Amino acid sequence: MAKFGGSSVADAIQLAKLKEIVEHDPDRRYIIVSAPGKRFSEDNKVTDLLYLLKAHVDHNVGFEQILQVISDRFLAMEINLGIDVNLTKEFAEIESNIRAGASEDYIASRGEYLIAMLTAAYLGYDFVDSAGLICFNNQGKFLDEETNKRLKEELSKHERAVIPGFYGTKLNGEIKTFSRGGSDITGSLVAKAVNADVYENWTDVSGFMVADPKIVKNPKQIDVISYKELRELSYMGASVLHEDAIYPVRESNIPINIRNTNDPTHPGTTIVANIDGYRNGEKIVTGIAGSKDFIVIAIYKNMMSAEPGFVRRALSILEDYGIPVEHLPSSIDTISIVLSKKKINGKLEDIIEEMKRRLAPDSLEVYDDMALIATVGERMNRRLGVSATLFGALFKAGVNVRMIDQGSSEMNIIVGVQNSDLESAIRAIYDAFYGQKED
Ligand code: ASP
Repeated sequence: MAKFGGSSVADAIQLAKLKEIVEHDPDRRYIIVSAPGKRFSEDNKVTDLLYLLKAHVDHNVGFEQILQVISDRFLAMEINLGIDVNLTKEFAEIESNIRAGASEDYIASRGEYLIAMLTAAYLGYDFVDSAGLICFNNQGKFLDEETNKRLKEELSKHERAVIPGFYGTKLNGEIKTFSRGGSDITGSLVAKAVNADVYENWTDVSGFMVADPKIVKNPKQIDVISYKELRELSYMGASVLHEDAIYPVRESNIPINIRNTNDPTHPGTTIVANIDGYRNGEKIVTGIAGSKDFIVIAIYKNMMSAEPGFVRRALSILEDYGIPVEHLPSSIDTISIVLSKKKINGKLEDIIEEMKRRLAPDSLEVYDDMALIATVGERMNRRLGVSATLFGALFKAGVNVRMIDQGSSEMNIIVGVQNSDLESAIRAIYDAFYGQKED
């Protein structure tokens, strides 16, 4: 089965590529689509236009013009692909539902609904609506088992089908969407229901790179990555896949293959539960990712470890302010509390005051322009000298390491550096593990 993202269905040219990909392999029987995305960088995604339309409705501003822009896009595709799915009738129905007070989720879901219909007609596949198959309870909670049961039953009746991503229905019949980017989740649910050999996720990049190409010139491609490694890396930065898309296929041991619609012969990146057997013994580091703007509060107190409840009290102060903790590296008498600058909402001063008062630390230091870099690889723990290589490289590059957190799983070393050192640190780590000697 294959899921195609917004850029892969952005216009008739992209849909022609999609068709070629689907027809190239008869196993591509179930196709999930996102709403059409951007055709060029200043373009609008259809889903964004739909949310905008709803905002117009809410403010009693005319929405007809936006609806026209959307319908023009779909009608152009219908004409260019030489098919007829009676879009005029569909748009008339959507318009009348909007006038009758349709919900935001209903409106937002129409991009996927319409493009799935078009794609099905173009491929000669059945159109199977996600409404009534992807289930939520009436409070909006996703219903895993019910969905799996309904998808299995319905899809067994269709040899080949196109299914819209992103939405389903509550048990009372109302349309309900996942969060943004949620078509990935639909793909994963369908892969599980049909017990697919692989969940192909077609997008506009050829999978993951070892490091961000904006920082490292021509970084190597990651051919295989485990779910755990991906989780560690995506926490730090750009992610190609919706996080919730991982669970359904991970449970059923179905690999996800990220592929590029614009470069279909490229094998992309495969995400698997267990990398043993996939990866040769050479690779130590799978990926390096970094993110800026963290704050670290480093607390030192002599005999801290002998003081019951110390860490709990420190954390409860943050809890009172509603601030989540990102990391918590510690040693015997110190803890470093790592927070995201974005989430601290100008409350830093108050928090520091309160910590000084309630914890009476021997010292409390704040570093407020920290970047974190995660160097990830499941096999790091089986290799000696990984930390030595990493810290040696940072030392040589003149990067001052302010914090180190090596999780107990040892598949991840996180270092904290000054924001301004992020790029040079990532380049240094990349070169140390992927420079000349590994080529
Ligand atoms: N169209 C939806 C969005 O833009 C869902 C998706 O693309 O996966 O968020």
